[in-house]
Amino acid sequence: MSPGRVPCPLCGGPVHPIAGRCRHCRGDLTRVARPSMTPASSTSRRGRAALIAMALLLAAAALAAPILAA
Ligand SMILES: [Zn+2]
Repeated sequence: MSPGRVPCPLCGGPVHPIAGRCRHCRGDLTRVARPSMTPASSTSRRGRAALIAMALLLAAAALAAPILAA
């Protein structure tokens, strides 16, 4: 395999890691899970957004609980 290329998960042909479409089988690589190629920044950004959403939900629940209990 050429350096800088990764095997296509669909056909196994060497494709560029950031290619959105396989040049060999024309497969849509953006729809295929690529654990080794997922940028850590986007993952942590998504995780932080989920944490913020969770914190907002918890805050809302904490604010609403006394009102609901009364
Ligand atoms: Zn392919």
